[in-house]
Amino acid sequence: MLRRHPWVYAGAIAQVRGAPASGDLVAVHAADKRFLAWAAWSPESVIRLRCWSFHEADRIDETWLGDRVGAAVARRGGLEEVTDAVRLVYAEADFLPGLVVDRYGDQLVVQMQAAGVERHREALLDALCRASGCDNVFDRSDGALRAREGLPGTSGVLRGDAPPDVIEVREQGVRFGVDVRRGHKTGFYIDQRDNRRRLADLVRAFRARHGRAPRVLNCFCYTGGFSLAAALAGAETVVSVDSSADALALAHANAERNGIASTPHSAAHPPTAAGMQWRCADVFEELRAMRARDERFDLIVLDPPKFAANHHQVDRAARAYKDINLNGLRLLEPGGHLLTFSCSGAIDADLFQKIVAGAVIDADVECDLRARLAAGSDHPIRMTHPESEYLKGLWLERGD
Ligand code: SAH
Repeated sequence: MLRRHPWVYAGAIAQVRGAPASGDLVAVHAADKRFLAWAAWSPESVIRLRCWSFHEADRIDETWLGDRVGAAVARRGGLEEVTDAVRLVYAEADFLPGLVVDRYGDQLVVQMQAAGVERHREALLDALCRASGCDNVFDRSDGALRAREGLPGTSGVLRGDAPPDVIEVREQGVRFGVDVRRGHKTGFYIDQRDNRRRLADLVRAFRARHGRAPRVLNCFCYTGGFSLAAALAGAETVVSVDSSADALALAHANAERNGIASTPHSAAHPPTAAGMQWRCADVFEELRAMRARDERFDLIVLDPPKFAANHHQVDRAARAYKDINLNGLRLLEPGGHLLTFSCSGAIDADLFQKIVAGAVIDADVECDLRARLAAGSDHPIRMTHPESEYLKGLWLERGD
């Protein structure tokens, strides 16, 4: 905490004065009695304290919380020209530990993932509506993190009207339907915005350089984020793979929303028929099947779910990342590009790069690392809280 990291683990606490309840504000002192921070107490969590502020003069009240919310919303200014799907509050990185708020048009979706923000639910909601100008707030505090805080999962309308089944947002000229009730996270992978643009740029650059449109493979496509970015930028074929029929149904609807004709998803549409192909399949198996069929691609995206939920799963996750990257690289044409991601917090950028380098070696190809990729600017990485950097990507270009 002397290094201003916002968490204190239970094992690091020598003494507790009084009997604080879940979400109570407590003053944190060092062994030599120096003031360290104001924090929220979370008796059930291994992260026993989450710090609001390191300034003794601060008063953590409704005004203070409102100021933090206002500052978070204000620093997203400018994104509205690009999209109306924006992360307005990113928890620890915005000094509001455990609070995530995403905006889809005029609908806010919140996740209150820690005892401190749960305690101040109403004040935070007031401040959010004020700062954003939105009246409608939906709760998606139903993830695994709440259980670790000893809080029950909650979901439903908190303020204003119930959201429609699908909310339409636009991002860089592409329309997406977002299901805030049942979708992953708050409904959409807002964090990949810049990387979807990167893919669209690569499609255009490929056409300019090679005089033909690229064939694109998007693995773990969810509702078609990368697929539609590539298609609208002029890809010849976009093959999209996901194991969830529900996600593919929304992806399919999203293609139609953008006027893109597509074949219905099925297991075996050969990529020679131009257009969109949605394949409901396991990526680990489908990559092998594509190799057996000798399918090849100019641009490949690998954006899997979190393979490692914690440090105990790192080895197994590393093998899974290696597997998809190796088999993905085997399908990549010479001169082609791979955008490969990991959103596992337990796997840091260094380790991820080593895993992918191992895949490059085993695939017996040469690749340049063109750039390291990350989440968009509405997911800031606080230097004193490295955990805010969960999404890491590598942009590789295969040599000829
Ligand atoms: N790239 C997406 C987000 C990916 S989320 C975007 O930009 O919106 C991860 C997706 O992987 C989910 O849709 C999930 O259904 C899918 N998935 C998980 N395991 C899978 C597997 N083994 N094979 C295929 N899809 C899988």
